[in-house]
Amino acid sequence: METDGLQSRFVELLQKRDIHITENQLNQFETYYRELVVWNANMNLTGITKREEVYIKHFYDSSSLAFFIPFGKISSLADIGSGAGFPGIPLKILYPHIKLVIVDSLNKRIQFLEHLVQALKLSDVNCVHGRAEDIGLLPQYRDSFDLVTARAVARLNILNELCLPFAKVGGFFASMKGADPAEEINEAEFSACQLNSRLFKVSFVELPGDQSKRHLVIYEKLKATPKKYPRKAGIPSKNPLRA
Ligand code: SAM
Repeated sequence: METDGLQSRFVELLQKRDIHITENQLNQFETYYRELVVWNANMNLTGITKREEVYIKHFYDSSSLAFFIPFGKISSLADIGSGAGFPGIPLKILYPHIKLVIVDSLNKRIQFLEHLVQALKLSDVNCVHGRAEDIGLLPQYRDSFDLVTARAVARLNILNELCLPFAKVGGFFASMKGADPAEEINEAEFSACQLNSRLFKVSFVELPGDQSKRHLVIYEKLKATPKKYPRKAGIPSKNPLRA
């Protein structure tokens, strides 16, 4: 495929963050964009369809996790509530060595992701249809992953219960949040503690273009998940953990 101005800018923006991508990876992002737009015509995958916005608000935003987390040291990643694949698929394109598990409760989105994985020729990607509350109980996924991610799935106090069960002891859960996550972080203190983790760091990133502000809220898992978590599907959001 021929490279255009937007792609060159995307490459430069990543280079500035010390991420260097090959022509093949750039082609994978372009194929991702095309598949997303084609499938989005028939199902609700994303409200963002302008090519430039997809590159910045989906691809660059998803990649921003790698500005703060050393992905060379990450070998397994679980992306919970991935929807159309964010942030899991862009991270897998950038770091093909990672074993990626995607969990989403909507089967149509899982079907899109299975198609996408083929179209992008990605290996070691497992797209799992189900609710995080149920999948997080299965021994092959529980307390297993170096890194767990979630973007735009729920408030932090709910997310901690959905996502932290997937992280291994010594692993991390990185939640992608907006301009001001302070209140959510406070609200989630109890759930983090109940799920045997601690707030590790909060990193700030600004998107190029409209300079929208984002935060990555990163928790470290300290001990194995207590048996009682996660609670039954639907309970974490109906009755979020609070002190
Ligand atoms: N992470 C993607 C993004 O940033 O574009 C998708 C966000 S979308 C708003 C939320 C996704 O989370 C949906 O695809 C939904 O099906 C999924 N989801 C919500 N609750 C879930 C749960 N308990 N378990 C698994 N998936 C869930």
